[in-house]
Amino acid sequence: MPTVTPKDQVEDRNYRNSWYAVTPNRLLVTLGALNEEINCDICVIGAGFTGISAAYEFVQKGYSVTLLEAKNLLDSSTGKNGSHLLRGYQLSPDHMAKKYTPGNARMLCNLTLEGLALIVGRIAKHEIKCDLKFGHITTALDRDNISTIIKRIKEWNKLGHTDMQYVSAKDIPAYVDSKKYAGGLYDPKGAHFHPLNYALGVAQTAQTAGCKIYDETPVVKIEPGATVKIRTQQGVINAKFAVLSGHIKIPGLPKLGQKILPAAMPMLATQPLDSRISSKILPKNTAVSDMCGIMNYFNLSNDGRLLFGSICPDIDLQKRMTAIFPELKDATIAHRWNNPMDFTLNRMPHFGRLSDNIFYAHGYCGQGIILGNLAGKLMAEAVSGTAERFDVFARMKHLSIPGGDAFKKRLLAFAMAWHRLQDTLL
Ligand SMILES: Cc1cc2nc3c(=O)[nH]c(=O)nc-3n(C[C@H](O)[C@H](O)[C@H](O)COP(=O)(O)OP(=O)(O)OC[C@H]3O[C@@H](n4cnc5c(N)ncnc54)[C@H](O)[C@@H]3O)c2cc1C
Repeated sequence: MPTVTPKDQVEDRNYRNSWYAVTPNRLLVTLGALNEEINCDICVIGAGFTGISAAYEFVQKGYSVTLLEAKNLLDSSTGKNGSHLLRGYQLSPDHMAKKYTPGNARMLCNLTLEGLALIVGRIAKHEIKCDLKFGHITTALDRDNISTIIKRIKEWNKLGHTDMQYVSAKDIPAYVDSKKYAGGLYDPKGAHFHPLNYALGVAQTAQTAGCKIYDETPVVKIEPGATVKIRTQQGVINAKFAVLSGHIKIPGLPKLGQKILPAAMPMLATQPLDSRISSKILPKNTAVSDMCGIMNYFNLSNDGRLLFGSICPDIDLQKRMTAIFPELKDATIAHRWNNPMDFTLNRMPHFGRLSDNIFYAHGYCGQGIILGNLAGKLMAEAVSGTAERFDVFARMKHLSIPGGDAFKKRLLAFAMAWHRLQDTLL
C-alpha cells in the first residue's frame, strides 16, 4: 500500500518545486549572468526546449552561438511539464487538411514524427540519460470518444502511418487499470521521459561544441538592424540573427504576446508508490492522456511516483487522481508545481519573423516538447537558407487576442467553465 503520512508536506522545502527540477542528473556549469559586450552570429533567447534545440542545431552548423536564459537553467520551463512525447497537433490530420491543404497537413504531421525522431536520435547519439520510455495511450470515457479514436486512427492511416492501435474496453486494464476508461488509442511511438535531464544533456552537448550559455540573464531590449543589438541587465550582444525561443517576455517587444493565451497549469508528484500499486495501475508504465473535457495526463517516474496533471489552472488534482485511481486516496503528495502553457486561438503553433534576422516560435498548445525541439531545428534551417519547412508554419494565420491580461484571464475562465461543464454532462 502507499505510505499513509500527512498529505501535502508543506514543510518540505522541495514541495513547491517540480520533481524534475530536484532530480537533475548532471551539473551544467554556465557562464552565469552576462556582464560585458560580446559579438556572435546567433543569439538564442530563452533556454526552453526551443532555445536549447536551436542552440544545438546552430552550433552543429558551425555558427557562433550565445544562449540567454532569464532564470537558472534548473528553473527553466524544461523541468515543469508533463513529459509526454506525442505526435500530431491539437487539430486532427483531416481538420488540418481542410485548413492548410492535404499536402501541407501531411507535411506538418510528418514533421511531428521527425521531431520525435530528432529527440530520440539525440538521446541515443549523446547517450543522454533521461529515462525514455516508449508507449502512450489516449483513453476514452464513452462511445463518442471511441468513435473519435477510430476516426483518428483512419486519418493517420491515410497519411501512411499504420502503427496506431485501437484498444478495447476489455484490453484497457493491460495499459491503465481504471474503471473510468472504456477504450483507448495506443501509440507505440509516443513516449515519456525526464524532460529536464534531456534538456540539460542537449544543452551540455551544445556547450561542448562551443555555445556560450548565460543564465540569470533576462533580455530587456532588442534593437533590430543589420546587426541585432540585444541588451541584458548588465550586458550587450551584437548578433547577425536573434531567435526568440518560446514564451519570451521583453518589455516593448512588438505584440507577440497578443497571439498567446497563457494559463498556469498544475502538476503533482506522489511519493514513490508501493511497486504492487504502481504495477497494477500502469502495468506497462505507459504515458496516459484521457479525453475528459478537462484532460488528465499521467505516467510513472523512474522511481515509481505518479506524475499527474490536468489542463485547468484551478483544479483539485488530488481529487481527479483518486477519481481515476481510488487506490491512491492515501498517497502522499510530495511535489506540486505549475507553469504557463501557451495556447493560440487556432490551436496551432505560431512561428515567424519580426524582421529578416529576428525569428520566433512559440504557442505550442501543450505539445511543446516535440514542437519546440522541431522549431529549433526549423529556425536553424531557415537562417541557413532553407526556409520552406519553417514557412509552412510561418504562413499560418493567427488571430490576435484582444484586450490585456485581465481579458485573457476572463476568456480562459470561460473556456475552462465550458470544459468543466462537458465533464459534468458525461
Ligand atoms: C504543466 C505543464 C505540462 C505540460 N505537459 C506537456 C507534455 O506532456 N508534452 C508536451 O509536449 N508539452 C507539455 N507542456 C508544454 C511544454 O512544456 C511547453 O510547450 C514547452 O515547455 C515550451 O517550450 P519553449 O521552448 O517554448 O519554452 P518556454 O517554456 O516558453 O520557455 C521560454 C524560456 O525563455 C525564458 N525567457 C522568457 N523571457 C526571457 C527574456 N526576456 N530573456 C531571457 N530568457 C527569457 C523563460 O524563462 C523560459 O525558460 C506542458 C506545459 C505545462 C505548463
